[in-house]
Amino acid sequence: MITIKSRSELESMARAGEIVATALKLVEEAVRPGVTTLELNRIAEDYIIRQKAVPLFKGVPCPINGGPDFPGTICASVNDEVIHGIPGLRELKDGDIISVDMGASFDGYCADAARTFAVGNISESARRLIEVTEQCFYEGMKHAVKGNRIVDISRAIQRHAESNGFSVVRDYVGHGIGRELWEAPQIPNYVTRERGPRLEPGMTLAIEPMINQGVYNVKILRDKWTVVTADGKLSAHYENTIAVTGGEPVIMTKLRGEGT
Ligand code: MG
Repeated sequence: MITIKSRSELESMARAGEIVATALKLVEEAVRPGVTTLELNRIAEDYIIRQKAVPLFKGVPCPINGGPDFPGTICASVNDEVIHGIPGLRELKDGDIISVDMGASFDGYCADAARTFAVGNISESARRLIEVTEQCFYEGMKHAVKGNRIVDISRAIQRHAESNGFSVVRDYVGHGIGRELWEAPQIPNYVTRERGPRLEPGMTLAIEPMINQGVYNVKILRDKWTVVTADGKLSAHYENTIAVTGGEPVIMTKLRGEGT
């Protein structure tokens, strides 16, 4: 079921969103060669808990039979890792890229966002992948307006990625969000046979393009969580929680005072 949020519910989501955006900013500031992904996890978790918010990824049951619950507050996915990387003792190296995804709830309402960061000096092609992935989010969001359908968001994302020579991950999609981290509808980043529901004011969506340098196919590592590109090429991720309104969509996962 797609939930429509009241003004006060949207305010709670915006507070959760500000906490997530700030935690991502703190992680970004800590990203450098030599830091471990576990240290980045600690920074995010400490901040979220100090805000009296709840990290939402920690303890999520593994979608694969027999896999462990997710142990991290963040997903930390390096280079060819697409999503769901488990924070650990891996040290980031100059030239790496790292996708950091996190969700938190405040007052019972959820927010979810992801960014890909450069570690030190990265290649021009990695830089372009990160930029185009962010642009894909904004291209998609433009279409998150009253009366459109989910497919309008999907199409814009796919066009932008593919016209820049990149591919769109098929196996994982964006989603509705509210009291639950994952709500209806699904938001694919590519055009499927489903047009999806019509958008209405008060719907809140996590739009999250996952864009690959090479093929769109992915596989899952033996830890039963980490999703990697099938060809070992780079992948980037960019996500915000947004609200559909009567006019322009509004980003909920933003820093205090930041535009849109
Ligand atoms: Mg998400």
